[in-house]
Amino acid sequence: MQAVKCRILHALDEAGRAPDAAWLLVVSKTFSAEAIRAAWQAGQLCFGESYLQEALAKIADLQDLPLEWHFIGPIQSNKTQAVAAHFSWVHSVDRAKIADRLAAARPDALPPLQVCIEVNISGEASKGGVMPQDALALARHIQTLPRLQLRGLMTIPAPTCDARPQFGQLRALLQQLNASGCNLDTLSMGMSDDLESAILEGATIVRVGSAIFGARASKIQP
Ligand SMILES: *Cc1c(COP(=O)(O)O)cnc(C)c1O
Repeated sequence: MQAVKCRILHALDEAGRAPDAAWLLVVSKTFSAEAIRAAWQAGQLCFGESYLQEALAKIADLQDLPLEWHFIGPIQSNKTQAVAAHFSWVHSVDRAKIADRLAAARPDALPPLQVCIEVNISGEASKGGVMPQDALALARHIQTLPRLQLRGLMTIPAPTCDARPQFGQLRALLQQLNASGCNLDTLSMGMSDDLESAILEGATIVRVGSAIFGARASKIQP
């Protein structure tokens, strides 16, 4: 984890950004509660999970720790209740119906759910995320909902040799939304292999798993 933190700081420095301008979300999907506990002992509070059942088991196991959980996987309607009850952030909202259900299910005793819109920046047919041209309408819709706080945009780039242009497009889209009055502060982009180019393009959260925990056993990535 220290090596990844060094990579983040180095990239921020290279980008001429402040050392706290981007932070690390440790992606713990497929890794054990014990591995998460060890990362917490090394100072990490925020963890990202993609698979709901697996995440709920670990959240229950680790209830004694003051962790902040981020849901980063695909969300179907039947997951919204549990996601709204057990997570602080959701990075993967890509349609109004899911946002409506999360807002309705967010318990009053908890602070507003922090939300990013997942954008299909590469426009691949088979992929989750809203198309860039539909992001503004979805953002405006989410901003009318109680119990949700829209923070920004998230993307998983298409696997090309250089993801940087796609990160640049997500940043441009965020600027466009802000120029339309959205007031968003978060760009969730960059993973183990490309966090540097994401930070150079303005990432504020990088989501890193395998560079910290090692390669995942062959579970399909969402
Ligand atoms: C698995 C995953 C990551 C982390 O990927 P690594 O390559 O292990 O760093 C980041 N974001 C999402 C949405 C993921 O599903």
